[in-house]
Amino acid sequence: MKLDTRAIRYLTGEDWRVLTAVEMGSKNHEVVPTPLISQISGLRGASGVNRSISNLAKVGLTAKVKNAKYDGYRLTYGGLDYLALNAFIKRKSVYSIGNQVGVGKESDIYVVADESGKQIILKIHRLGRISFRTVKANRDYLRNRNSASWMYMSRLAAMKEFAFMKILKDNGFPVPTPLDQARHCVLMELIDSYPLRQVTSIADPPRLYADLMALILRFASQGLIHGDFNEFNILVNEETQQPVVIDFPQMVSIDHANAKEYFDRDVQCIKTFFERKFKFVSDDEGPTWDDVKRTGKLDIEVEASGFSKKQSKELDKYLQQITQLDERKGDGAGDVSADEDEDEIERNSDVEDGDDNDDEDAGDGHSSLSKDNPEMKNEA
Ligand code: ADP
Ligand code: MG
Repeated sequence: MKLDTRAIRYLTGEDWRVLTAVEMGSKNHEVVPTPLISQISGLRGASGVNRSISNLAKVGLTAKVKNAKYDGYRLTYGGLDYLALNAFIKRKSVYSIGNQVGVGKESDIYVVADESGKQIILKIHRLGRISFRTVKANRDYLRNRNSASWMYMSRLAAMKEFAFMKILKDNGFPVPTPLDQARHCVLMELIDSYPLRQVTSIADPPRLYADLMALILRFASQGLIHGDFNEFNILVNEETQQPVVIDFPQMVSIDHANAKEYFDRDVQCIKTFFERKFKFVSDDEGPTWDDVKRTGKLDIEVEASGFSKKQSKELDKYLQQITQLDERKGDGAGDVSADEDEDEIERNSDVEDGDDNDDEDAGDGHSSLSKDNPEMKNEA
């Protein structure tokens, strides 16, 4: 699903309150009953609330759902995007939105700008958009989730990513500087480099290979395994040839039950890539699990960041299912099919949709979000 920010400037203060009310109501209700939205919003005057409710549905920030027992609304990913962006705008972390630069398996990546015009990266986590239909195993676990629970998982992924990026950056690891996090979104430094997979000129492959293996060991010595250490998640600067590592929602502790397996897989990913792309095979067989010597405990320290052990377990359970899907990619499982899946969610919950803005482009260049919008200033 695309980020369509055109409506953000036209939302009134009341609209924002009603949108927030739908989000709050979603914590206990899969479908939030209309009277509850009105009650939570705390707005007097039914006509204003009703106008906002219908406005929000029209621009797709909420969706009307006909439940067996009552009618109501649920938050859409579009609505969650707006709430996160609004939080960033209020905190002056974001001023305008630019182009989409990446579509990950379960994320959308945009270049945005802060108030000073500096370009930064917005990563929007979108868990649950992989298509699970071809997967037999664990299908129930994955399929029986509703959109609210996917949003919750996406939020956990963003919290975790931000917490890990922060502790890694503070400890001198080559990762982007984390800047802010709200709901399912993370803001971080824009790295002026491309993923290793796309970099055409690697001057000294053995050197880079050694650097990357050393990095895997350095993570492990601090108690951490990246868990998805591959040519897509390592950005390499063409001039300096320095690697920067990204993408942290699946990081695990070296005390994790499957730690050795994840460690070996990270090592193997690099080996396989270098052999395929550069025909480079190192004389050094390592590193192996036995080379890991713990000298620090960032895996423990990160727990103090506000991302709790319980949350970590919830996310971990989900990510393990996804990892299993990854490995079966060859069988056509785990394909990204965002539109299909969004459709499916809509069908399952019998949604009456508002305007469908999906296939329209937000356009080139940066579009400003708030400055000329008096309503949003009032909110801030
Ligand atoms: P996913 O979890 O979906 O794989 P990633 O965090 O790996 O998402 O980002 C997907 C792509 O977006 C990356 O391969 C890279 O091209 C780009 N990207 C992500 N973060 C940055 C960043 N901080 N600077 C520059 N490019 C980035
Ligand atoms: Mg990635």
